[in-house]
Amino acid sequence: MDVTLFNTLGRKKEPLRPLAPGPVRLYTCGPTVYNYLHVGNYRTYVFEDVLKRTLKFACFPVRHAMNITDVGHLTSQADEGEDKMEVGAAREGKTAWEIARFYETAFLEDAAALDLDFHPGSAAPPEGSPGDVLCRATEHIAEQIDLVRRIEAKGLTYRTSDGIYFDTAKFPGYGRLAGESHVEGLKEGARVQANPEKKNATDFALWKFSPADARRQMEWDSPWGRGFPGWHIECSAMAMRYLGESFDIHCGGVDHIPIHHANEIAQSESATGKPLAHFWMHGEFLLMNKAKMAKSAGGFVRLKDLQERGYDALDFRYFCYGAHYRRQLDFSWEALDAAKTSRRRLKDAAAALKLKAGAAAQPAPAEALAAFSAALTDDLNVPEALAAVWETLRREELAPAVRLAFLREAERVLALGLFKEEAAKSLPPKALALFDRYKAERAAKNYAASDALRRELLDKHKIHVFETKEGSRWEPA
Ligand code: AMP
Ligand code: ZN
Repeated sequence: MDVTLFNTLGRKKEPLRPLAPGPVRLYTCGPTVYNYLHVGNYRTYVFEDVLKRTLKFACFPVRHAMNITDVGHLTSQADEGEDKMEVGAAREGKTAWEIARFYETAFLEDAAALDLDFHPGSAAPPEGSPGDVLCRATEHIAEQIDLVRRIEAKGLTYRTSDGIYFDTAKFPGYGRLAGESHVEGLKEGARVQANPEKKNATDFALWKFSPADARRQMEWDSPWGRGFPGWHIECSAMAMRYLGESFDIHCGGVDHIPIHHANEIAQSESATGKPLAHFWMHGEFLLMNKAKMAKSAGGFVRLKDLQERGYDALDFRYFCYGAHYRRQLDFSWEALDAAKTSRRRLKDAAAALKLKAGAAAQPAPAEALAAFSAALTDDLNVPEALAAVWETLRREELAPAVRLAFLREAERVLALGLFKEEAAKSLPPKALALFDRYKAERAAKNYAASDALRRELLDKHKIHVFETKEGSRWEPA
C-alpha cells in the first residue's frame, strides 16, 4: 500500500519510499520532563501515533526512537536562561534527577492511557530490526560529545565564555526547513535577547559550561570543560545512534520547525554530509482561548484533569481526530463532550455487532476498507477515515460479522478502545493482574487455581468476579 506524507522540507506531499531495506525508521522528539505534559503536547503524540499505526497498517514495519529530554532544555529558546530541569527541582524541593524520573513516569502512564503504540524494552532492539527505543539525554552524553567533536573537526564551531556554539553562517541552507523569510523573523527576535558573544543571531549552543562559581546538579566533563549538552544536539546524537545517520521520518510539533529542527539539520548534516531525515513532519497546535496551549501561558489542561472530570484518555484521542494534524484545533469542554459521546456510540456499535455476529469470522468489505485506508494513507486524513467508519457502520445491507471485521481493522489505527472491557480498565493494576491470571487459568480449565484467584480478589481487593455469556466480569464487592 502506498503512503503519501506531507514533507515540511519542500512543503509538498511525497510518497514514502524507505531509504533502506528493513523497517521504516522514525524519530519523534520526546518531552522535556520538568513538569506534567499538557494535552497540547499529547495532540502531537497522538498525531505521531496515528502516523506509526498507519505505517504498520500499510505493512511497513517501524523502528521508532523517542528521547526523554532530561537535561539541557533552557527556559529561553536563545540558549539563555536556566535549565528547565533545575527550575523544576527548585520549584519542588527535589533534585533534578528526581524531577526527571518522576515526570518521565507520569508521561509513560499517560502514554499508556492514550494507548500510544510505543513499547520500549529495557534494551534497544538489534540494529535494523523493528521495535521501540526510549532514550534519555543524560544516558547518551558520550554520543553527544562525539558529535560535537565531529562538527568541531569540520571547523563549524566557536567558543564563547559560556559554551561551544555552532556557526550557522557556515552552513549553507540553514533556513531550508523554516523558509528564509521565517529565519529573517527569527534573527530579529533573537536580536532582542542577543548574546553579544554570538557571531550570528541564529547560532546555538552545542555544549554549555557550568557556571564558574556554582555546581550544577547535572554536569559532565568534556574536552571543552565541565558542563552539559545543548538541547538540539541530544536529538541528533540519539537519532543517529539508534536509526543511523540518515533515516526516514523525523517528527515534532510545528514549534520545532524554526529552531530545534533547523538546528538538528544544521549540526547533523554538517557532521555527516548526509540528510538527517528524508521526511520532516509537524503537528499543528492545540489552542486554548485562541492561543497555543502552553505551560508558560497558564491556561493549560493535563490529561489527569480530563480523567478527574470523568473523561477517558481515549475520549481525548477521539477529540484529536476532529481535525487534520496540519490544522489548528481549539480545545473546549463542549468539543470533548461531543467526542466522548461519539466514542461511546462507536463502542456500543462494536458491542451490538459482537452480539449479532456469531462465531464465524468474516472478511472486512474490501471497498469500505479501501476508502478507510485511502484517507489515512493520503497524509493521515483521519477525519475522512473516521467518516468512512461511520458510513460503513450504517450500511445495514452488510452482515454484522462483516461490519465487525471492518471495525476491528479500523481500530488497529484509531485505537479508540472499541473492544476493551470498560470494567477491566478501571481495576487497580494489582487487581487487574490477578483478574487476567484468573481468566487465563479458567480458560486452561485450571479451576482450583482460578477459584483461589477469585477468592484472593474478593479478600484482598474487595472485587467480586462472576461469569457471563460474554465472559468473565467483575464488580466491587
Ligand atoms: P516539549 O516537552 O515542550 O518539548 O513538547 C513536547 C511536544 O509537544 C513537542 O513536539 C512540541 O512541539 C509539542 N507541543 C507543545 N505545545 C503544543 C501545543 N499547544 N499543541 C500541539 N503540540 C504541542
Ligand atoms: Zn528533538
